[in-house]
Amino acid sequence: MDKNNSSIKYISRSPEETRDIGVRLGKLLKAGDVVGLFGDLGAGKTTLAKGIAKAFGIDERDIVSASFTFITEYDTSPPFVHVDLYRIENDTELAELGLWSHIRRDSVSVIEWAEKAEAELSSENIIRVSLKYKNEDIRELIIEGVYEKDWNHR
Ligand code: ADP
Ligand code: MG
Repeated sequence: MDKNNSSIKYISRSPEETRDIGVRLGKLLKAGDVVGLFGDLGAGKTTLAKGIAKAFGIDERDIVSASFTFITEYDTSPPFVHVDLYRIENDTELAELGLWSHIRRDSVSVIEWAEKAEAELSSENIIRVSLKYKNEDIRELIIEGVYEKDWNHR
């Protein structure tokens, strides 16, 4: 995806709405794109990831929060890679994970808890989505690195 510096801001009022935003983002992604999801527990990262995955034909029930699995690769075209860094506690664990061997130019990658790999990701040309809990049902989403023109064209 072509990148630029504009940011798109959304207020989501339900999990369904967050999923729909994910589908919309997913439809814009192409091989090589890396999406970093930033935000605390319950901010809606997995919910958004389900929507992005849905755009690739993946059943949203297959996208789950990490227990022990950090990286799941789906055999779609292009391959879809879901990474959840929740349980990563330090840079040593991050290094052991070998994140970059899973994030490839021929796949689309979505990384939850991207702040845990901030140092590595900041040098990359990633699409950033920051999610913020406002109240029980409301989340603020800020999407950076997507052309507004592309976003609005659908
Ligand atoms: P994270 O992966 O960031 O920890 P999840 O997506 O797993 O967050 O969980 C978000 C929780 O918040 C879910 O239980 C979801 O139903 C709830 N929720 C309520 N309102 C929203 C909203 N507007 N967007 C996303 N999730 C919401
Ligand atoms: Mg999650």
